[in-house]
Amino acid sequence: MRQKTFLLPTLRDIPSDADVKSHQLMLRAGMMRQNAAGVYTYLPLAKRVISKVEAIVREELEAIDVQELTLPSLHPSELWQETGRWDKMGDELIRLKDRHGRDFALGPTHEEVITSIIRDAIGSYKKLPLNVFQIQTKFRDERRPRFGLLRGREFIMKDAYSFHDTEESLDDTYQAMYRAYERIFTRVGLTFRAVIADSGAMGGKDTFEFMALADVGEDTIAYSDTSNYAANIEMAAVQAGNVENTNPSVQLLPVKADDEIIILLLGAGHELNEVKSLHELQVKSLSTLNDQEVQEAFSTEKGSLSIQTIEGYRLIADQSLQGASSFTIENTGDAVNCTELSIDSYADLRMIQEGDASPDGQGTIQFARGIEIGQVFKLGTFYSESMGASFLDQNGRANPYKMGCYGIGISRTVAAIIEQHNDENGIVWPVAVAPFDLHLLTLNSKNEEQAELSEKLYTTLKQSGWDVLYDDRPERAGVKFKDADLIGLPIRVSVGKRASEGVVEVKVRSTGESEDVHIDNLADMIQTKL
Ligand code: ATP
Ligand code: MG
Ligand code: MG
Ligand code: MG
Repeated sequence: MRQKTFLLPTLRDIPSDADVKSHQLMLRAGMMRQNAAGVYTYLPLAKRVISKVEAIVREELEAIDVQELTLPSLHPSELWQETGRWDKMGDELIRLKDRHGRDFALGPTHEEVITSIIRDAIGSYKKLPLNVFQIQTKFRDERRPRFGLLRGREFIMKDAYSFHDTEESLDDTYQAMYRAYERIFTRVGLTFRAVIADSGAMGGKDTFEFMALADVGEDTIAYSDTSNYAANIEMAAVQAGNVENTNPSVQLLPVKADDEIIILLLGAGHELNEVKSLHELQVKSLSTLNDQEVQEAFSTEKGSLSIQTIEGYRLIADQSLQGASSFTIENTGDAVNCTELSIDSYADLRMIQEGDASPDGQGTIQFARGIEIGQVFKLGTFYSESMGASFLDQNGRANPYKMGCYGIGISRTVAAIIEQHNDENGIVWPVAVAPFDLHLLTLNSKNEEQAELSEKLYTTLKQSGWDVLYDDRPERAGVKFKDADLIGLPIRVSVGKRASEGVVEVKVRSTGESEDVHIDNLADMIQTKL
């Protein structure tokens, strides 16, 4: 690709609206632009990375016989009413009406749609198991879209759904998907950890979240310092016996920590996803309240809360808080708008703390931050039962399918890769997902020898099978070097003063090592570096 005409609007300065490295670098490296909060255009450079990640995902899934299909983004409300999720999803579900006034949603996930297809399509145990996937744009009206591609309202997801006649069959596929995820995340260059999570009320049993380790991650991983134990913090608290997850009522724990009060909703038979959305309610600047005032403090637009004290925690129990979008602090009269509240470290919460004994009986708990890049989930029969999707078993009896679902955030994975692979000068792409393999620079494009040699190399390097970005712009060498570091392709080949001798400079982005090399040896040299 010739850079002169490539849509690559790089920026010198750090954009003021970007708080995390991946967001800053994707804007600066000309990879994307924002259209609305949580909605982005992927410019050509980003599109190439996304395609590479998608190709790796496809390869690994097809290797275990998962079939690709495409489900619609526009979902009739009737499907979501069958499972009760039309109401349950709340504001995260983007709803719209067609010209006839019929209700639709923009797909945030596709259990309902795929189950409706399979209930009409299969029928016999002989055709099971079935495992299908798609890679598609998803829509979720997140309460707090932020951090660029890490939490968008429109984002790319790979989602897979499997259908089974027996628990063993579901388990086989679940394990195979888990291993495929390990291969995928390893191949894209991520340092990650699979952690036990809670499958909540959806009838599921097992679930793992795959977490890319990064300080900016919104999730806290609780792991043992001496064993393989790793769980998300919510699940670790449950497994440690600190938190009950079976009580069907909604519980809120305001925990006072330094100058802020964190309100935490505990599982209590609700999906942890739901729980987490209320984790977001972190009320700041309330340091003036004493304990008693805290007890009296909260009322919501949907009614006030009753407060008790249990085991050292102040416990507020009230179902009505769910879905509330603002609180009033009664004795101060301050209104606290939920959309302004932020998720922060869970470390202050007493659910479980660093140094606690480990839920598996080995070692003590340590915390690390992670970005949820994927999840494997045994759904059980929640969807097949509520939607009447069954197969005939060997005895001709109808049974609901046992289901699994498996997600990977493709666009979030790209951002996570950048979080883990950057330095002060820009992105440092792992070879497997780099938008191009090589960056070819002409240091002085007015110099005929340099221009001629560059053109020749551009052709031959492409012929050797490499993806080449060719900086043929009439810019100063300094500008080209800065952009090359920012964009971060694995190998830079600079054609400069020694062009007349047929010598160019090769620089490896990840190590910074550089070497002059004769063009006769260039291909071999690049081969050893990639
Ligand atoms: P989170 O806990 O971060 O909100 P989730 O558990 O709601 O994510 P899933 O329903 O498990 O997400 O979706 C599968 C994958 O899609 C997630 O593991 C994540 O990688 C990705 N994903 C989910 N929400 C977003 C988003 N708003 N922006 C980008 N990627 C997302
Ligand atoms: Mg999650
Ligand atoms: Mg979510
Ligand atoms: Mg998840």
